[in-house]
Amino acid sequence: MNKGNVWLVGAGPGDAGLITVKGLHCIRTADVIVHDRLVNPELIAQVPDHCEIINVGKEHDYHPIPQEEINQILVRHAQAGKQVVRLKGGDPYVFGRGGEEAEVLAQHDIKFEIIPGISSAIGGLACAGIPVTHRNYASSFHVVTGHTSQGNEQQNWEILAQLEGTLVILMGMTRLMEICQQLMLYGKSPTTPAAVIMYASHPKQESVIGTLATLAAKAEEKDLHAPALIVVGNVVNLGAMLSFPPTHGAIP
Ligand code: SAH
Repeated sequence: MNKGNVWLVGAGPGDAGLITVKGLHCIRTADVIVHDRLVNPELIAQVPDHCEIINVGKEHDYHPIPQEEINQILVRHAQAGKQVVRLKGGDPYVFGRGGEEAEVLAQHDIKFEIIPGISSAIGGLACAGIPVTHRNYASSFHVVTGHTSQGNEQQNWEILAQLEGTLVILMGMTRLMEICQQLMLYGKSPTTPAAVIMYASHPKQESVIGTLATLAAKAEEKDLHAPALIVVGNVVNLGAMLSFPPTHGAIP
């Protein structure tokens, strides 16, 4: 059978200009684009006229499209010989289930390529003036999810609290208070600098800087919610000096 190809493309954290040149080229030559909710519409607008656009981030009655169905959409279109772009926020392999999608493609013997993207876990911090590492403040960084696939299963906050490096927590906003409390319970100082960055790199980016003791209340006061990054560590203090007004240029 004449099988098409699938490109799993990282869209970057939000600003359309932060996609890679290679990723943009894939979008501009796609027959079908399958995209998530968080992807910038300016990127979707780059598809050719004939391209079919499938939004799998749409939540019907608050039920997101099941992963199995997304996998089937990719397989079906690739097997029909289409050039399929699977456009995902940030980097396709940083959370967001890109690994599972690639596995299914491999199982079906469909050719695919991964086009990495700038992950919010690194680039999102930079957009708020926070370097994820710094010679004087952090020699490692650790990216974790605030919730796990098992629902009730928890991250091991006891171990995470011992780490000296920058801690970056994705998908943690519904548990922000609990996360800060766990880290303090297991020994992190309540004065440890901590920040929340919402819509990093978007024009509507908002952030708040505090400490483990104050962050949850400050974030609530500013009404910060998902999508947002929680950052814990001394590099957060640099945010006050290193933040900058972003430019959002049109895609050339
Ligand atoms: N693959 C993505 C992450 C997918 S998980 C990446 O590499 O960035 C989705 C989570 O990522 C969100 O809940 C949020 O915690 C984080 N996120 C993604 N984009 C973001 C943005 N622009 N600003 C803040 N957080 C973001």
